[in-house]
Parts: sequence; C-alpha cells; structure tokens
Amino acid sequence: MTSTRPRIVIVGGVAGGMSAATRLRRLLEHADIVILERGDYVSFANCGLPYYVGGLIEDRAALLLQTPQSLAARFALDVRTRTEVVAIDAERQVVTIRNLATGTDGEEAYDYLVLATGAAARETTAPPGGVPVVNLRTIDDVDTITALLDNRPTSEHHAVVLGGGFIGLEAAENLRRRGVAVTMIRRGSQLLSPLDPEMAAPLLEHARWNGIDVQLGEADITVTSTGVRLGAGQDVDATIVVDARGVTPDTSLAADAGLRLGASGGIAVDAHHRTSQPRIFAVGDAAEKTDLIDGSGAVVTMAGLANRHGRAAADTIAAAVTDTASVAPPAAPALGTAIIGFFDFTAAFVGWNERRLRAAGRQHRVIHLHPAHHASYYPAAEHMAIKLLIDPATDRILGAQIVGGAGVDKRIDVIAVAMHAGLTASALGELELAYAPQYGTAKDPINLAGNIAENHATGLDHSTQWHELDDALAAGATLVDVRSAAEHDAGAIPGSILLPLDELRDRHGELPADLIVHCQVGQRGHIAARLLRQLGHRASNLDGGYLTWAAGQRASDAAVLSS
Ligand code: FAD
Repeated sequence: MTSTRPRIVIVGGVAGGMSAATRLRRLLEHADIVILERGDYVSFANCGLPYYVGGLIEDRAALLLQTPQSLAARFALDVRTRTEVVAIDAERQVVTIRNLATGTDGEEAYDYLVLATGAAARETTAPPGGVPVVNLRTIDDVDTITALLDNRPTSEHHAVVLGGGFIGLEAAENLRRRGVAVTMIRRGSQLLSPLDPEMAAPLLEHARWNGIDVQLGEADITVTSTGVRLGAGQDVDATIVVDARGVTPDTSLAADAGLRLGASGGIAVDAHHRTSQPRIFAVGDAAEKTDLIDGSGAVVTMAGLANRHGRAAADTIAAAVTDTASVAPPAAPALGTAIIGFFDFTAAFVGWNERRLRAAGRQHRVIHLHPAHHASYYPAAEHMAIKLLIDPATDRILGAQIVGGAGVDKRIDVIAVAMHAGLTASALGELELAYAPQYGTAKDPINLAGNIAENHATGLDHSTQWHELDDALAAGATLVDVRSAAEHDAGAIPGSILLPLDELRDRHGELPADLIVHCQVGQRGHIAARLLRQLGHRASNLDGGYLTWAAGQRASDAAVLSS
C-alpha cells in the first residue's frame, strides 16, 4: 500500500485522462484524484467537433460531456482547468503546474502520475494579420472557426483545408455542409493514406462530386497573407485556412522528464501502460502502442484505445495501491481500426495496407470483392468494396479496407474482431452472422471474403491483381471478358476478348492455354477460371474484376496528374 490516502495526478482531462480518473474513483473511493488540464474544458467530444462546425450538431453544449462541477459531484474528482503541467520531477514525485489564469507556478505531489497529454498538431507559420490559420482539435478551435465563418456572408468565404486525412475530410465535408467553397490541398497522390490507392479512388470522386476542389501532390505549400501558395507558385485565395495535416504524440513533458520514448515517437510503455518510470503511466495518443501484425511500436491516435488504456492504467494503479494481485490483463496489441463517414460514403480499415506490406517485404495475398450490403432483391441494397490482405503462409488476416455505403461499419468490425481473436481469413467463411434480407445476405460479405480466402488457401483460386495486368498483357497473356456483351460495351479493359461465361464451356477451344479472365466484380470470373482450369487451361481470375481494375486506373491517373 502506497499510503492510506494515495494521490493520483492525471495530466490531460479528455479521453484517456478522464477514463482513467473515473475508473480510479470506481476502484478507489479513498484516493485523491487530481486532473490537470491546460485547456478550458475537460471531457469534451473532440470527435463531434467537425459536425458542430457543419451545423449538424446545433447545440454547442452537447459537445461538453462533463464539467469540473459535474465530475466533482459524481466522482469527487479535483479537476483544474487552465492548469498546465510544465515539468515532472520523477525523483521527488512532484509535477510543476502553471495556473494559466494567473501565470503563477506551484507544485503537486503524486503517488502515481498518468500522462494523457494527447497529440499535438503541427505549427503553421502564417504572416501576421493575414488569412487566419486554425486547427480543428478543441472547443476553442471550433469557436474560432464558427466566429470567422459568421463574420461575413457564406458566399464570400473560401476555405482551404490542408490535409486529406480524417480531420481534413471531416472539416471539408462540414464546411461544404455550411455552404462554404472549399479547396483541399494534400501532399500525397490520394486522400486518406491508410487506404490503398484503388480503395481511395472513390473518396476523391465523392469529394469532387460534392463540390470540393481537391489539389493532390502539393508537398510544398506556404501560407501567404491572402491564402495559400502552392509549390508551382499558384495562389489559392482563402478567407480561412484549416490546417489538418496530421498530428504527432505530445511527448514534450515526458521527454523533458527523461521518460523513454519509443521508436514510433510515442511515450514508451509496457503492456500495463507503465512508462520507464514505474510510477508514471501514459495512455492515449501520446503513448506508443504495440502493433498487432509485427509487434513493433506504433502511433495509433484513436479514441477507443485512449479510453480503453485509460481504464486499464487505472486498474493497474488500483491493484498496486491496494496490494492486490489482480492486475488488469496486458493490453491487446493495436489493430488501428478506423472508420470515416464522408458525405454519403464510408471508408474503414484495420491492420496493415498493401503499401505497407510491400514496403516491409512481407508476403501477402490480396482479395477484392464487391458484395451488396444486404439481399440485392430487397430495396436499397448498396454495394461495398472489400479488400482483404492475408498472410499466405498462415492464412492470418493482415489487414482489411472497406469502402461504400451502408453496412461498411458492421463488416470492418467483424474483421477487427476476427483479427483480435486470431481467426484465419478462411474462418470468416464459417462465421454465423445474423441475416434477414434488410440486414445482410445468407452468405454475408464477410462469409464471401472467407470463402474466397479458403479458395486461395486450398489452391482452388488463382488470381491476377489489377496492377499486375499490364505486365501480364505485355508478356502476351490473353484477357477474356466473361461478362455480357452489354457490360463489355459499357466499359471494357483494352485488349480484352469478349466471351460470355455461359458460352465458355462450348467455345473454350477458341482460347489459348494461358488466360486471364475477368468479369465485373470477380465472381463470374472465378466460375470461369474454375471451368477453364478443369478443361485444361492455365486460367487466373482478375481479382475484384472490372470494378477494381477501373478504380486502380483512376487512382493511377490521379497519381500521374498529381506528380
Ligand atoms: P486528448 O483527448 O487529445 O486529450 C489530451 C488533453 O491533454 C488535451 O485536452 C490537452 O489540452 C491536455 N494536455 C496536454 N498537455 C498538457 C499539459 N502539459 N498540461 C495539462 N494538460 C495538457 N478518434 C476516433 O477514434 N474516432 C473519431 O471519429 C475521431 N474523430 C476525431 C475528430 C477530431 C476533430 C479530433 C481532434 C480527434 C478525433 N479522434 C477520433 C481522435 C480522438 O479524439 C483521440 O484519439 C483521443 O481524444 C485521444 O485521447 P487522449 O486522452 O490521448 O488525448
């Protein structure tokens, strides 16, 4: 036991910090729990901020989930806002605090310290008096943005959003929702870089359909007094610039105190969220996570992990304080599961993408499919595109990406659960998932992905990827389109021969031995490839069919244009 009345100090009063604080109170009624937050607010809904800018969340108060007063009343927490921790003395177990209202410094002793300092946005240098540059991370930020937007008619505003990741996309969508003209400027050749290019292509189209001017491949931008200057010297005028070019773990306090940082840049912690100083814990965006795929240190800045790890750190502290052996189980490795809604489009992913697997030199198998989210005969079925990445040696799932509309959220979560549980890709075919026509299909998209994975694992399926096709055709392969003539006429892969699936059995003799077949989404192509292989051809199926190939072409075109 540390003392009869242990004192636990928490730095940062939002997701990770407040989860730790309230869990600690549920476990330790007789502890002093102090939360030090440099901002004006604690426990606010940062994930909801963009939707307040867009007017979807109308009531600002809805963003403020708790106040220091409500937390004192229910949990007897000593919450101090506008209080910044400026130094940690791990030897003496004290932190130096600065009252930002008065500018005075003081000290606060702790038995245990939890760092939940979050992530820091990059600083943008802008000429004084010029176009305002804002982040979208705090209540103060949204107050600034809404005040700026209100200071002149909407039609006179032009927002430039820097960055095309989660917050950039959400900012752009919500500015459009308010009627503001938006230019989005991004360094890379696609939006949302965790997606592979063929999966990200529809996102760019949705942005443009919704009136967002997207400029890709702009690595070298400067904020000027009237807007933003692109690398080639082109000026984009703006009345407001929202800088959403990503964040890094806010580790300055920890680093100054000599705590070890991980290779990823986050605060290094063990599986119980202990830093290199055993009485100091770190959780949330500031802390390094362990990656599920290769066990390396990773930065994953998502709310679910921050909340979960805050709770778990509290459990470990409570066990130490009360001298119980029942320490919380070690943290599960991070998967990086994430989802974004962008207008009526949804993109989600988990684990590694193909780009990362290739860069790491890891063997992988790729499956694309385009199932409907519920029975296609039932009204309003929507299609999604699923990409599954699999370790060919173990059949383990390495990652997944899903884009589309309805039902994307459910499928990414099922795959995340499967990865967490260590299921193989083939085992997805065995999952017994709830089905009625308005919710799914008797063979759910997840089951279909598992069936395809099993076909690959057992050698029944041989596929060619969209980006391998040009080389295969250049090397003399014959590409056979097994769709209908109408489908072929509506859009065909250059060089393909039309031979509809239902004629293949009788006419396969017209074809050479080595073939790549394709259909619209890969399903008829699989049937064709199976038939042709049994009839003596060496046939492979274009994975994901015409739709994946076409998305890949659009992504390649965007990359060429942005280079
Ligand atoms: P935070 O919640 O950022 O809290 C850190 C706090 O520490 C801050 O309030 C900061 O002021 C305070 N602090 C830092 N240093 C000090 C110091 N020295 N002294 C005192 N106080 C200090 N995640 C999702 O999973 N899904 C989403 O849809 C999603 N949407 C998001 C939308 C936006 C606009 C933003 C900004 C984030 C979003 N996130 C989302 C990310 C998610 O909010 C973070 O992963 C999560 O809040 C991290 O929790 P945290 O406790 O580590 O840090």
